[in-house]
Amino acid sequence: MKYKKVGSDYVVRLEIGDEIIKSLTALCEKENITFAEISAIGAVDRAVMGFYNICEHQYRQKTFEEPMELLSLLGNVSQKDGKPYIHLHAVVSNEECRTFGGHLNEAVISVTCEMFVKTFDGEMNRRICDKTGLNIFDI
Ligand code: ZN
Repeated sequence: MKYKKVGSDYVVRLEIGDEIIKSLTALCEKENITFAEISAIGAVDRAVMGFYNICEHQYRQKTFEEPMELLSLLGNVSQKDGKPYIHLHAVVSNEECRTFGGHLNEAVISVTCEMFVKTFDGEMNRRICDKTGLNIFDI
């Protein structure tokens, strides 16, 4: 991972083999980023994505292992129990330009990833929502 601070924001380039959530967590810990918006594009060859089943209160995960374009990565950084909480959703496409997407649990860079981390003042914490079982913004 290489990155550069621009004002209060960051431009990040992930490299072959970097895992997106681990890399982003490391960046947030190192730079003390507590509240931010994430956007990125790139290419991956492994992605673990989930769909939240609201009735079961759990994620159904699927693993994709093939060369894929990372068409859109959107999400945010907040805090939970004093640690960075990374919440990302991704859309990827395969060789046939077919798209898959979901809540991102893991993704490994195959070529590069160009990411912007837009920071906000202050911090945003998470709390469990009783109705859904999800960790939601504590606003
Ligand atoms: Zn999600």
